[in-house]
Amino acid sequence: MLRQNEGMQRTLQNIQERIVRAAESAGRDPSEVTLIAVSKTVSLERMQEAYDLGLRHFGESRLQEAIPKIEALPKDIMWHFIGKLQSNKARRAAECFSVIHTIENEGQLKEITKAQNPTLSLLIEVNSGEEEQKAGISLAETAEFAKTVVQYKPATLRGLMSIGPAHRNAEDMRPYFKAVALANRNLGGSWLSLGMSSDFEVAIQEGSTHIRVGSALFGERT
Ligand SMILES: *Cc1c(COP(=O)(O)O)cnc(C)c1O
Repeated sequence: MLRQNEGMQRTLQNIQERIVRAAESAGRDPSEVTLIAVSKTVSLERMQEAYDLGLRHFGESRLQEAIPKIEALPKDIMWHFIGKLQSNKARRAAECFSVIHTIENEGQLKEITKAQNPTLSLLIEVNSGEEEQKAGISLAETAEFAKTVVQYKPATLRGLMSIGPAHRNAEDMRPYFKAVALANRNLGGSWLSLGMSSDFEVAIQEGSTHIRVGSALFGERT
C-alpha cells in the first residue's frame, strides 16, 4: 500500500513538472492549467490515494460508475463528466457533476436545465478531426451552437472541449488543438479542455486550461 502510494506520488510529481515545463515553454502561468484525474475503471482506493496527494478534480465517463464514487469520496472534489451523455441521463449528470465536457445537442440541454444546478459549468465538445464516428459538433457549427447553449440557464457555458484524432505523435495533434483554441477565443470561452496522457504538453502549449489525464497517472486501463 505504502509502496504503491509512493509510486503514485512520483508519477504525479512527474506529470506536474511536465505541466510546468509545457506552460513555461509557451509563456503561460502553469497555475492556469487544471489537472483532471481521469478515474474511469479506477478503484475507490486508488482515487482516495490520488485525493490524499492533493488532487481535487476527477473525470468520469459513465454515470453508473461515477455515482457511487461521488457518494463515497470527499465532498470537496470537482467532478467532470467527460463521456458520451445521452439525453435521458443528462439531468442526473447535471445534479452530480460540476462540469460536463460533452455538450453536443439541444436534447441534453433540455434535460440539464431541469436540474437547476446554478454552479454547473458546460463545455461544447468539438469533433476537431471531423471524424465520422466521433462525438461532438463540427468547428464550423460551434459559434451558432454556443448561442443555443447560453440560453439554457442556470448552467454556464465555459468553452470548448475536444479529443481530436488519435495520432502516434503528439506533435501531429497541434493543428487540431490550434483550430479549437482559435474557435474558443472567437466565442469568448474562458476554459479550454484539450489534452490527454499522450498529448497534454502540446495541448497546454496551445492554450488548454483543463487537461484530462488517465493512464499516465493511474496506469493503463484493463
Ligand atoms: C479516457 C479519457 C481520457 C483519458 O485518457 P488517457 O489517455 O488515459 O489519459 C481523457 N478524455 C476523455 C474524453 C476520455 O474518455
